[in-house]
Amino acid sequence: MRILLVEDDADLADAVARNLERSGFTVDVAGDLAEAAASVETRTHEVVVLDLGLPDGDGLELITAMRRRGDATPILVLTARDAVEDRVRGLEAGADDYLVKPFAHAELVARIRALLRRPRDDLGREIRVGRLVFRPASGEFLVGDEPLVLPRREHMALELLVRRAGRVVSRGALEDALWGFDDEVESNVLESHVSRLRRRLRELDAGVEIRALRGLGYMLREVKP
Ligand code: CA
Repeated sequence: MRILLVEDDADLADAVARNLERSGFTVDVAGDLAEAAASVETRTHEVVVLDLGLPDGDGLELITAMRRRGDATPILVLTARDAVEDRVRGLEAGADDYLVKPFAHAELVARIRALLRRPRDDLGREIRVGRLVFRPASGEFLVGDEPLVLPRREHMALELLVRRAGRVVSRGALEDALWGFDDEVESNVLESHVSRLRRRLRELDAGVEIRALRGLGYMLREVKP
């Protein structure tokens, strides 16, 4: 579970990040709006924890920009005790919850877990892994800004892998999605689709790999450049 923590108070950011890591999260820290914007564009986070008062602007700008793109990542806003207006503005801009500073660590973790449990409207939510982007609303893939057009079955296979990025997708699930339950499929047909996909993704430098897990299935994940 990767969390983006946007907080310009370095000591606070440090303490919160350390605590979240101890609670089992992976944490990216951004100290200002520009860093935060770059981070949400290059990585997928399960939750964004956002301080509103940032040195280069208002955290609300990040919320607005993300929601405008169709990015529905849950956002938890951190506000000062007396800033009632900030909370209202945050929620109106599309934040999902807020927490008043100073807060107990256990409270933050409980709120994050609650956001993770909340059913999400996946429609329109862009999925990014490495440079590979999938837009569920239109069903299209992009690598960076370039559309990636694939043969139908490879498209379906990649969609399933992207929707479950970082998790194992069983052979059976892929075969069902690609051919339906009734079709008899030669055992190496799936492999050849996957190897064509791999080649294509490599050629385009998509920053992802499709790993084969013997006896289990396949997993799509980001590769570090
Ligand atoms: Ca601040």
